[in-house]
Amino acid sequence: LEVIASVEPRIADATRAELADQRGSLKLIASENYASPAVLLTMGTWLSDKYAEGTVGHRFYAGCQNVDTVESLAAEHARELFGAEYAYAQPHSGIDANLVAFWSILAHRVEGPWLEKAGAKNVNDLTEADWEELRNELGNQRLLGMSLDTGGHLTHGFRPNISGKMFHQQQYGTDPETGLLDYDALRAKAKEFKPLVLVAGYSAYPRRVNFAKMREIADEVGATLMVDMAHFAGLVAGKVFTGEENPVPYADVVTTTTHKSLRGPRGGLVLATEEYAPSVDRGCPMVLGGPLSHVMAAKAVALAEARRPEFATYAQQVADNAQSLAEGFLKRGANLVTGGTDNHLVLLDVTSFGLTGRQAESALLDAGIVTNRNSVPGDPNGAWYTSGIRFGTPALTTRGFGHDEFDRVADLVVDVLRSTEPGTTKAGAPSKASYAIADGVADRTHAAAAEM
Ligand code: PLP
Repeated sequence: LEVIASVEPRIADATRAELADQRGSLKLIASENYASPAVLLTMGTWLSDKYAEGTVGHRFYAGCQNVDTVESLAAEHARELFGAEYAYAQPHSGIDANLVAFWSILAHRVEGPWLEKAGAKNVNDLTEADWEELRNELGNQRLLGMSLDTGGHLTHGFRPNISGKMFHQQQYGTDPETGLLDYDALRAKAKEFKPLVLVAGYSAYPRRVNFAKMREIADEVGATLMVDMAHFAGLVAGKVFTGEENPVPYADVVTTTTHKSLRGPRGGLVLATEEYAPSVDRGCPMVLGGPLSHVMAAKAVALAEARRPEFATYAQQVADNAQSLAEGFLKRGANLVTGGTDNHLVLLDVTSFGLTGRQAESALLDAGIVTNRNSVPGDPNGAWYTSGIRFGTPALTTRGFGHDEFDRVADLVVDVLRSTEPGTTKAGAPSKASYAIADGVADRTHAAAAEM
């Protein structure tokens, strides 16, 4: 930091302050973690200075032999860890991984067959009219994904997102009574809509998914099954999710982030079957800019860590801690979406505390508990204010928290929320955003967080 401070001290200060914040609060954001020193240090190297557009052994720049080693190792660790036929380590983030997946599915299922039908040996031979026809063909495909309010991600076909614009989209949800995935309703919707792509996976669904059933549904309608396991990749890596709960043997294409439960650097990965591998491999430069070689190196280090037995122990503890947190909430009378959890996250409905998600999130932050507000299924408060708070256990599990600590966390959260009153704006009108937290509660919670 001294070297950084000699150039731009404010960056050194902000970095130091971030460390203090992350150490001094309870980090319960389900998509965050603490990467190891080995992972963090690997990102701060001269690998960052190298351009390496293209793929291993096939670059658009000279002198990429070391990046080839790095990328090959990251892919090898990913293949071995997840038992995948092929792995692509370049995506800069989870959204980028999903874009690569969409593009490669379109390339494999639509563009390839179209070119074959047109008898085109080389795309350079296409006329303007051919390109127009191909563009129409590509732009006329259907995608079915999980809706945002029931736990899906923006990139799973949410209308305002590019995924909801590049495809004709429909969304599936959960059973309004139980909050659980309703595979029969999903099958019926898929049969009617006949998507090219069926997307499974979630950001805020507190339950496991049966990927064998997802595969069956995809097969019944001729869809490519794409699974976005960004949130639970660590649980797959740590063999907590096995059999039908492991998407890799069932999906054609699997995407993930590397920085959530997997505990690596910020970034993405795509896993695929041999069939989809050639089109995924062209992700850069067709979808992505030049690879971040220093981050691919850090992915290799994190994936090597995840192949160690200690990581399986960690992953099991993440799931056990989520149970402890959920039980802690339930025994204190709180409402949970689906009534509990069997993965790494818990979705608390805060309406019974008389609060919106935004008020609850702010009050918790004031008390040193860092979370994020989240929609609940059919949320009456919309996606900005919301009615829920999402909690995840990966980060605090890395810090060594177990059952007792998570029970204490539940106690602190409920204490803060019970002590929070929806407030008013300066003009006196009730505001969805303002709140007042009872004197002493934030101090008490800060003190407890510091002691934990
Ligand atoms: N996919 C899922 C399921 C996610 O939850 C997220 C992020 O929260 C992403 C993709 C996007 O990841 P990134 O922020 O790295 O682009």
